Formats: sequence, structure tokens, C-alpha cells
Amino acid sequence: MEHDRRFEGPSDLHLHSTHSDGTEAPALVMAAAHRHGLRTAALTDHDTTSGWAEAAEAATSLGMTFVPGMELSARHRWRSVHVLAYLIDPDDSGLRAMTDRIRSSRLDRAQIMAERISRDYDIAWDDIVAQTTDGATVGRPHIADALVARGIVADRTEAFASILHPSNDYYVALYAPDPVTAVELVVGAGGVPIVAHPAGRALLPDSVTAAMLDAGLAGFELGHRENLPEPTALLADLATERGLIVTGSSDYHGLGKPNVPGENTTTDDMVARIFALGRGAAPVFP
Ligand code: AMP
Ligand code: FE
Ligand code: FE
Ligand code: ZN
Repeated sequence: MEHDRRFEGPSDLHLHSTHSDGTEAPALVMAAAHRHGLRTAALTDHDTTSGWAEAAEAATSLGMTFVPGMELSARHRWRSVHVLAYLIDPDDSGLRAMTDRIRSSRLDRAQIMAERISRDYDIAWDDIVAQTTDGATVGRPHIADALVARGIVADRTEAFASILHPSNDYYVALYAPDPVTAVELVVGAGGVPIVAHPAGRALLPDSVTAAMLDAGLAGFELGHRENLPEPTALLADLATERGLIVTGSSDYHGLGKPNVPGENTTTDDMVARIFALGRGAAPVFP
């Protein structure tokens, strides 16, 4: 395949911009990736593809290959599951309907959380809007930023560990499809589904992982700072056994997290496999 020969590593396939909960615009995210020595980078904002055009332009003008991606929200019972979706058709009606629904639910949910928090803390919905770029996928990180701006917590980490923690009465779950449906939607949009940070604290039951694989799950993001050694080793064995794709990425969020572009990377042969599988959108070469 022609494009297999044209991209160059190192490759980081998981970065966020202000189109979701990153703190930098897509062009600045690509500039950060470039500064950290990356030659190929994806933009994977939560539940939106709206940052692609700006990121593609910035990446290619810096001589980098741009990989269009998204991090699709899903949920199994109480577990939040993130499905990375590479090379999806951004106009696919099934996937669009789902991401529209998730984003709208995220907005309602953030307003309810803000209302609950405002009973105990000096914070209003306008404070959260002020932390959110117009049209962005809204999430708890924006509420965290509002709490920081009000001097209630020091940073996002403290906000997530306290006021925004799911064990708290302020917490409201967002609407998200089950993980199998999420995989089906990504496959239906011509994309390559990979489970993000699959070996953290909230492990999926094996039966759910098996059902996701049956639905076309392509692999696992095994290189991620939130993955724990033991479950990572188990999933690595499964990946080897089944010939699955494994990736490594930073999950960069600008100033929103300590994660640094390129802190984990994906090997060239795995990037080539993703490029060969994706049919909904093409990588953008410099
Ligand atoms: P939400 O999807 O709105 O429930 O928020 C989850 C998002 O918050 C994830 O995408 C993470 O990027 C971010 N997040 C989770 N924990 C933390 C943390 N401790 N510090 C900063 N961001 C976090
Ligand atoms: Fe995030
Ligand atoms: Fe995630
Ligand atoms: Zn992410």
C-alpha cells in the first residue's frame, strides 16, 4: 500500500485539543507533538471530529503525517470505556447520530452537576461556559477548570479526586453506548477501533472484551500511563494470540494533564496496519 511507505515515526496516536478537554487548539497540539520529535500524530478528541481540518493543516505544514481520529465514549455498567476510532468517515450517519447524542447528554449532565456543586460552592454555569471553547465536547475537565478559576481547587487532578469524583453526590453519568455498540459504529463508519487505556483500574470483564472482538475490535492501547502492569501483560498475551493491533500513546491534554506528547509511541508496523484497515478517512501526508 502506497501510504504505508510514506509516513514516518515516531508516532503518537492519542492527543486532545480544545475541541474536547485539551487546553490547546488543534494547531498548537500538533506544534507540541512536533516539538517533542513526533513525525506522525493523531487528534482524538472526545466524541467529535471538528478539530481535524485545523490539525491536518498544522501537522502537514510542520512536515508531519496527520491521523484523523476520535475517542468515542462508551460505558459498561459503571465503567467508562473509551474507544479510539481511527480513520472513520466523519459524515457517517450512524456514528454522527451517536456522537451528537453523547455531546448533547454531556451538556445536560454538566449543567446538572454544576447546579449540584453550586449548592455548596461559589460556582455558576457561566463559570464552566467560560472554560469551554464554543462547540467543544463538554466534560468534567471544564468543570474542574472552573473550580480552579474560582480558587476552590488547585488543579484538575485535585478536582477529580474530590468534587468531581464519581463517588460524590455531585456526579452524574453521561449517556454513552455499550462498548459493543461503540465498536460496531466505528466499524460501520469504516474506522479502526482500539480500546484506549484498557488496563487501568476498571477492567472490562473478559466476556465484554470477547464480544467487542467479535464486533470487530482491532486492538488495544497498551502503552499508556494509566495502564497497570498485570492487566497490560494479560492483554498483550491476548493481542499476540489473536494477532491484534497494539498501540502506545500519550493522551496529551495540554496543561490539563501531565501527559507529554511522545511519552508512549506506536511502532511503524502497527501504524501501517491501522492505515491499511481504515476506510472512512485517509491519513494526511505532508
Ligand atoms: P467525563 O468524560 O466528562 O466524565 O470526564 C472524563 C475526562 O476527564 C477524561 O477524558 C480525562 O481526560 C479527564 N480526567 C480524568 N481524570 C482526570 C484527572 N485526574 N486529571 C485531569 N483530567 C482527568
Ligand atoms: Fe479527556
Ligand atoms: Fe480516555
Ligand atoms: Zn484521551
